[in-house]
Amino acid sequence: MKHLGHLYIVSAPSGAGKTSLVKALLERDSQVVVSVSHTTRPRREGEIEGVDYNFVTPEQFEAKIEKGQFLEYAEVFENKYGTSQVWVKEQLDKGLDVILEIDWQGAEQVRRLMPEARSVFILPPSREVLERRLRGRGTDTEEVIQRRLSKTVSEISHYTEFDYLIINDDFETALADLSSVFRSARLTQDRQQQRHEALLASLLSKL
Ligand code: GDP
Ligand code: ADP
Ligand code: 5GP
Repeated sequence: MKHLGHLYIVSAPSGAGKTSLVKALLERDSQVVVSVSHTTRPRREGEIEGVDYNFVTPEQFEAKIEKGQFLEYAEVFENKYGTSQVWVKEQLDKGLDVILEIDWQGAEQVRRLMPEARSVFILPPSREVLERRLRGRGTDTEEVIQRRLSKTVSEISHYTEFDYLIINDDFETALADLSSVFRSARLTQDRQQQRHEALLASLLSKL
């Protein structure tokens, strides 16, 4: 069966604002859901189990790989992250748009499996701002921040693999940009045809 919802990949260098933008989008768009990844990363202060991530041990993560439960998985900053295959398929079948907040390695795997996925890459307005945001978030140790910053250039170099680029300078402008990617995809003929079947039938019926 053809999936009704659309699949979106959102990637960014750490600290660019991906999580904040996706969260704000979900608050204003009820047709979009975000996949909660499994991770072996320790929980940050303020993160909630099952909401921000499903926090698992390396052993539990390996077991899920062996059972084929991940649509994709990757090692990022020395931790493992993976997306639940079943959950994503269920949401798409319900007609919801699904966002995967994943890194470029995961994006590569998902594109191979589901070439119809649309992908968005979020950039900070400058290196200085990226660093300021990572620090300002106040969730990571200096060592973790340094490690993440050292990976920034190699992460950003993958921007060419993405369909859309959004610069997160002014937050509301970036949110409007992200929102319009989702809105325009819902206006394509095939989707509008499904949604407005009755209208089209009545407009086309002979008087
Ligand atoms: P933040 O996104 O910088 O706040 O940091 P996180 O610790 O939440 O995420 C670390 C990295 O892992 C980011 O590049 C995410 O995009 C990536 N990531 C998160 N979840 C997944 C996942 O399920 N699969 C993959 N492949 N990457 C993920
Ligand atoms: P990511 O998920 O990409 O690592 P976050 O969403 O955690 O990034 O954002 C990093 C920090 O930057 C957070 O403290 C967030 O509140 C802040 N932030 C995000 N976007 C903006 C923006 N446009 N202007 C100022 N601060 C921002
Ligand atoms: P953080 O540890 O700061 O929450 O996330 C670090 C990075 O891991 C981010 O770039 C995030 O996009 C990525 N990430 C989070 N979940 C997944 C996932 O399920 N799969 C992949 N491939 N990357 C993920």
